[in-house]
Amino acid sequence: MRRRLLRIYHRLYRRLGPQGWWPGRSRFEVIVGAILTQNTNWGNVEKAIRQLRGARALTPSAMSALSRHRLATLIRPAGTFAVKTRRLQNFLAFLRTRYGGNLRRMFRDEPARLRDALLGVSGIGPETADSILLYAGNMPVFVIDAYTKRILVRHRLISPEAAYHEVQALFMNHLPQDTQLYNEYHALLVAVGKAYCRSTPRCDTCPLRWDLEGHGIPLPRR
Ligand code: SF4
Repeated sequence: MRRRLLRIYHRLYRRLGPQGWWPGRSRFEVIVGAILTQNTNWGNVEKAIRQLRGARALTPSAMSALSRHRLATLIRPAGTFAVKTRRLQNFLAFLRTRYGGNLRRMFRDEPARLRDALLGVSGIGPETADSILLYAGNMPVFVIDAYTKRILVRHRLISPEAAYHEVQALFMNHLPQDTQLYNEYHALLVAVGKAYCRSTPRCDTCPLRWDLEGHGIPLPRR
């Protein structure tokens, strides 16, 4: 399994190159992006981030000082803005009460403890928590998303019923604990998911077609 996962990674890296994740000018901006990107595309998140930057609201203290209405107005382009406003404010309250509003203190926490704590924040699920740990905290935690799961199911590496933690364990139990590897691998899988492994897969031109063929797996249709 380790060999296969690494071969997939190296093939993707050679074909698609470094993905430069996570686009963000600060750790707080990465966290805000991870919360805003839930159920929307990145283009909408970028618009919201630009508005927040224009309002100089991209620090925990500056954002905490905003009224709920003002914050909602600024992040409106990211969609479901009332829900996301609450989620951002939930995170800010968590940061304040547990770490005195200090991100450096937060990321000094032990990864498993911090992950559990983040999962206790209303509106932060495993994918968002792990994105925060990996891309804002540089912690070796593999992020799983719908693209990753779809690719792995189609390559028969996991069952369609596999839970988040099981898919994550597949990577983390077989790959070295390497933040840079996890960072790039997740980003590459997202790139494949967006360009090739869509609901109707485009295996003909996909860089991972070789893995299907090498394991005698018929090309999936849907
Ligand atoms: S080869 Fe086909 S199934 Fe595999 S990742 Fe590419 S598009 Fe998806």
